[in-house]
Amino acid sequence: MQEAARKVRAEGRIAGLVPTMGAIHEGHLALVRRAQRDCSPVVVSVFVNPAQFGPKEDFTKYPRTLEADAEKLAAAGADILFTPEPADVYPAGFRTYVNVEGLSERLEGRSRPGHFRGVTTVVLKLLEIVQPHFAYFGRKDAQQARIVRQMTHDLNLDAGIVVCPIVREADGLARSARNGYLKPEERQAATVLYRALEAAREEIAAGTRDAIRLQAAMRRILDSEPLATTDYAEIADADTFEPVTRVSRACYALLAVFIGAARLLDNMLMEPASDASGEFRFDL
Ligand code: AMP
Repeated sequence: MQEAARKVRAEGRIAGLVPTMGAIHEGHLALVRRAQRDCSPVVVSVFVNPAQFGPKEDFTKYPRTLEADAEKLAAAGADILFTPEPADVYPAGFRTYVNVEGLSERLEGRSRPGHFRGVTTVVLKLLEIVQPHFAYFGRKDAQQARIVRQMTHDLNLDAGIVVCPIVREADGLARSARNGYLKPEERQAATVLYRALEAAREEIAAGTRDAIRLQAAMRRILDSEPLATTDYAEIADADTFEPVTRVSRACYALLAVFIGAARLLDNMLMEPASDASGEFRFDL
């Protein structure tokens, strides 16, 4: 991969990287299509990164479907598939990790200690190996995208970070490899995340700005679903990911919810309109 990347750079081409853990779905393919607009070649990495899983998490159970993934990615126009093994990425004696302080400790970081350290370490390695001009991430993992952007800024990395919209099923459920863990009844229940975000949107549209009230509106919906157990349902500043008391600038509503064997994430971006009309823009 490093040799191919050097050749691409030498030829003056613009390389794009889409890092994934495989089990490719429409969310990933949207990133590939977006990358194709700016880049050739588009490199997709498929690597289930052990460093970002906790000891009791689903690393061994995480779906590995490389053959089907390769077909979908090729059909979507990916040019290079990079599929290293854990022993390639973390050979014996590996000792160097990178951590974005503060941002990595909240929300997902609080629930999954060490998770973002694993993410930033592997993303830094992928950026070093592939040397892309642009790397593409989904807003589905909003905190991750924010942390990766901070890392590229802090470490003067060359790659532009492009964050793409959330791709959803028809009923609102955000696409995720982990949706595959859901039994039919749980799959029905999983729409509760989207419905909770919609409830927050309606509250804002009705004039509520108080974060506690917005969280309560989301909790009401989440608590009404017996198959769902909420890990967190919070309103956070879109830049710092710190909790806010009032929504007066760009904020995220962020959810992490257990349903059956899956822990599902979703979020909504809320931004005051730039024209001081008091209106809000929502990105679900
Ligand atoms: P993963 O394979 O889950 O690590 O995801 C790889 C990349 O795809 C990450 O940047 C994710 O944020 C992004 N992604 C995953 N699911 C979606 C989705 N439903 N919509 C948009 N991006 C997504």
